[in-house]
Amino acid sequence: MGLKTSWLESANAPECPFPLNNLPYGVFSIGDEDPRCGVAIGDMILDCQKAEETGLLDFDETPLFDVPFWNEVMEAGPALWVALRARLQELLGNDAHKAAIQPMLVSQADAEMHLPFLVAEYTDFYAGRHHAFNVGSMFRDPANALPPNWLHIPIGYNGRASSVVVSGTPVRRPWGQLKSPDHALPAFLPSRRFDFELEMGAIVGSASDGPVTVDEADAMIFGYVLLNDWSARDIQAWEYQPLGPFQAKATATSISPWIVTKAALEPFRVACPEREFELLPHLKDTGPMLYNIDLDVRLTPKGKAASTIARTNYREMYYSAPQQLAHHTTSGCPMNPGDLLGSGTISGATKPERGSLLELSWGGKEPLQLEGGETRSFLEDGDTLTLTGRARGDGYVIGFGDCTGQILPALENPYKR
Ligand code: MN
Repeated sequence: MGLKTSWLESANAPECPFPLNNLPYGVFSIGDEDPRCGVAIGDMILDCQKAEETGLLDFDETPLFDVPFWNEVMEAGPALWVALRARLQELLGNDAHKAAIQPMLVSQADAEMHLPFLVAEYTDFYAGRHHAFNVGSMFRDPANALPPNWLHIPIGYNGRASSVVVSGTPVRRPWGQLKSPDHALPAFLPSRRFDFELEMGAIVGSASDGPVTVDEADAMIFGYVLLNDWSARDIQAWEYQPLGPFQAKATATSISPWIVTKAALEPFRVACPEREFELLPHLKDTGPMLYNIDLDVRLTPKGKAASTIARTNYREMYYSAPQQLAHHTTSGCPMNPGDLLGSGTISGATKPERGSLLELSWGGKEPLQLEGGETRSFLEDGDTLTLTGRARGDGYVIGFGDCTGQILPALENPYKR
């Protein structure tokens, strides 16, 4: 199955991230106008509010687009998700609708993007085996790098929904309590080891109020975004035992502006890797639930050339998002539309495939060489970090839109007033 063609020529270009096959969901504004829901097609955005007001998007659940977020579409349920996608493909694919739809398109270049959904809650996992092995080797010991539970459950922690920001939002270097091995006591300082984590985010679209199976969990997922779990490694190293990361991960979590639907990613499903231990029945693989998505990371020092510092693929994960979601519900934990699940850092087996500076610079011991001669162990003020994702089909590409953020210098001591 190849490119689905649109009457909008820009959508049919071979490297266009937003062909008719994709149709990701975002929230945009033009100038001083209020934000509204839109669908990316080629280099344009279809204004869903206008399409609904003129009756071109008309469902039992209407109105869906009188609000600037996609949660109402999620809450309408999977049958509506299918009907909406089919209708959008008809409107943007069939020439008969060109005259009616064209006035409802705005240029992506003119649009400011906003968070595409209200983030209900945010959980982050630790499900990349190479990442967990690398971090465990650095902080503990290569012989016992993986914690004993790691191959049996997807490890996670409850993050903060309030930390989630849309791509493009600057990120301020945090202050925190740090404990250097050379000092007997901790000190309150700006983080010196501020880092990124390359992740995918899965967006829960349907509610559950009890344990669900892996297949049920897959059906509950609405779509995926790129996610950067900004991490202060020095704050993390001091605070993480025994309850896991806390302030190290609370500064910001950036997501890409477009929700790529599960339907658009369907042709790219791949299986999880071979299991070292058989998973317990409720977590067992029931089909291919990872996706073949090429990921890369660019670091751009202020005023300098960009360097690609890592390339990997989402298929490197050990646990899929449906397995993580199923595990999340085992206790009876209720899940809701708008819940966001971070995959965990995605690293491949080799050095250029590592999804964090902690791993790329091996804890700062092997600084990275950038284009133009600079080196980096961790992020510096003014650096811009950009994640990109692409699933490559037969004659088309499914893109996510960049997930980017620039590091602002720490404030003056926030307690000195
Ligand atoms: Mn993370």
